[in-house]
Amino acid sequence: MINVAIDGPSGAGKSSVARLAAKELGFVYIDTGALYRSVGVAALKKGYDTTDREKVVSMLPEIRLELGFIDGIQHVYLNGDDVSEDIRRPEASMAASNVSALPEVRAFLLDLQKNMAKTHDCILDGRDIGTVVLPDAQVKIFLTASAEERANRRYKELKEKGHEVDYDALLEEIKLRDYNDSHRAAAPLRQAEDAVLLDSSDIDLPQTVEKTIQIIREKVGNL
Ligand code: C5P
Repeated sequence: MINVAIDGPSGAGKSSVARLAAKELGFVYIDTGALYRSVGVAALKKGYDTTDREKVVSMLPEIRLELGFIDGIQHVYLNGDDVSEDIRRPEASMAASNVSALPEVRAFLLDLQKNMAKTHDCILDGRDIGTVVLPDAQVKIFLTASAEERANRRYKELKEKGHEVDYDALLEEIKLRDYNDSHRAAAPLRQAEDAVLLDSSDIDLPQTVEKTIQIIREKVGNL
């Protein structure tokens, strides 16, 4: 199986790039952030403080997560319920960032990610795919963009959906999540030594997808 790891900070465009590149290549796109978001949502549903390690860890044995694909779109099931919409709610982002700092949560999600990669030609996006989950992936890309540009994109996206948003608050949240993700002890966000760095600050989405596909083809040949 061919495995492509795309890691990088929040809002760099990983999910859009991975989804479009996977479609073009006929690969499955696996959004691993959705798994951390689902654990975060499970804790929120229980009314837990998502920074409370003991509570979050105690809940793990009761959680069953599954991934399914409908028309090529990933759905996540939490104990049989489709939570794909719940996990996109704004409070799920910080909950995911909090629970993802716990080694027990990372260990809990590891096999699920590895098994998906073993059974599919796929592109996985996340924070530690190239460094921890799939250190032997044939292709590793570290996709980044400046915090300002990432906040800008998120601002436009939310505005288009009709949400009232404050740019400065978005920028602060992005910086805080970057800090949390790269300073945690368990699998911090960092570029794998053998990853190709792709900075999308000054290029648009189609150009980023094109570069991504080019990097993949250079590594594994024409697909
Ligand atoms: O990518 P997304 O924003 O959906 O991820 C939500 C949160 O889950 C991130 O802020 C990060 O803390 C965490 N995450 C992670 N490892 C991954 C994917 C996501 O720690 N592979």
